Amino acid sequence: MLSRIYCFLFFFITGNTMNSLFAQVTFQLMDTTTHNYALVIHGGAGTILKSNMTPELEKAYKNKLQEALNAGEKILKSGGSSLDAVRASIKIMEDSPLFNAGKGAVYTHRETHELDASIMMGDGLKAGAVGGVTNVKNPIELAISVMEKSQHVFLIGRGAEEFAKENGLEMVGPSYFADSIRLQQLRKLKGTEQMMLDHDGETGSIDSSEIEFNLFPDSKYGTVGAVALDKMGNIVAGTSTGGMTNKKYGRIGDSPIIGAGTYADNNTCGISATGHGEYFIRLSVAKDIAAMMEYSDKSLEQAAQIVIQDKLTRLGGSGGVIGLDANGNIIMEFNTPGMYRGYAKRGEKSKVMLYK
Ligand code: ASP
Repeated sequence: MLSRIYCFLFFFITGNTMNSLFAQVTFQLMDTTTHNYALVIHGGAGTILKSNMTPELEKAYKNKLQEALNAGEKILKSGGSSLDAVRASIKIMEDSPLFNAGKGAVYTHRETHELDASIMMGDGLKAGAVGGVTNVKNPIELAISVMEKSQHVFLIGRGAEEFAKENGLEMVGPSYFADSIRLQQLRKLKGTEQMMLDHDGETGSIDSSEIEFNLFPDSKYGTVGAVALDKMGNIVAGTSTGGMTNKKYGRIGDSPIIGAGTYADNNTCGISATGHGEYFIRLSVAKDIAAMMEYSDKSLEQAAQIVIQDKLTRLGGSGGVIGLDANGNIIMEFNTPGMYRGYAKRGEKSKVMLYK
C-alpha cells in the first residue's frame, strides 16, 4: 500500500511524461516485491479413507474445498487481507452441511448444537473466540466481531449470543442445524458415554473401525480451519467447529482456545488444528509449534512433525494441523488416515486432498 502511495505522489508532483513512465515502472517493480501470498485450509481430520467414500461424496468434498480455496485466494491475489481470506474460506465451509461447523455442526448429548470458533492475527497478536453458541449462523464472524468490537478475547454461551445480536450478526433457529444422519450418529453413541469426532472412530474403549465402518458408514464431516498470509506479510488463522458428537456439560474443545486449536504470530507461523480437542488443549498444540520455531530454531515443518507425530501420538490423541510461516511455506500434518485439506499459493496451481 505504501509503495502505491509513494508512486502516486511522485507522479503527481513532477507531472511530465518521462517521470510518469518512470513512476509506472517503479510501481510495477515495487509491487512485485511485496510478499508472496499463501492460503491453506482444512475440513477436519479422521478416518477418511478412499474405501469408505463414494465417488459422489469425494467429488462433493473436493468441490467444496476448492470453492473455499478459490474464494480466499481471490482476495489474497488482489491484495486483500489475510483476515478477509480466512473469513471467506471458513464461511463457505460453515455454510455447507458437509463439514462439522456452522450448518453441519454435530449434536450434543442433549440433542442440541453448540458451536465454537476462533480467529487470531499474527500482526499484534489480536484474537477473538466464542464457545457454546447455539443460534449464530457463522460463528467465525462472531469470533471476528469479538476481536474487533469488544474489549475481550473469549465470550461463551448466552453472553456471546447477546453480543452477536447487538452487533447485527445473522441468527438462526435450531432447525437450521437439524440433520438426520447426525442425529442417528448421536443416538447410537448416547448410551456409551463416549464422544466421537464426527468423522473418526476415536472413542476410547470402543473399537474405532467398528464405529466408523459399521455404525456410521456415512459420517464424513469435519471441523474447518484456514490460515492465510497476505501480500502485506500478515498471517491470520481461524477455526470453526460443532465440537464432538455426544459432548456433555457445556464441553468446549480446542478449536476456540487460542494456543490450542488456533494461533498466529507473524514472527513464526499461523496454525489451525482439528482432532480430539482434549489432547490438543493439554498439549497447547498450536502455540507449541510456534514456540518451537521461536525458541529452538525449528522450521515449521519440523515443529509440526514433532508436535503431531511425536507428542500428540505418544499421548494417544489423533488429529492434525494446517499452517504456514512468514515465507509462505505450508504444512498439513496429521496422524489420522486422512484430512480434508487444500492450499493455494502464488505461482502454483491450487490443490485439494483427502487421503494420506
Ligand atoms: N477439535 C474439535 C473439538 O475437539 C473437533 C474436530 O476437530 O473435529 O471440538
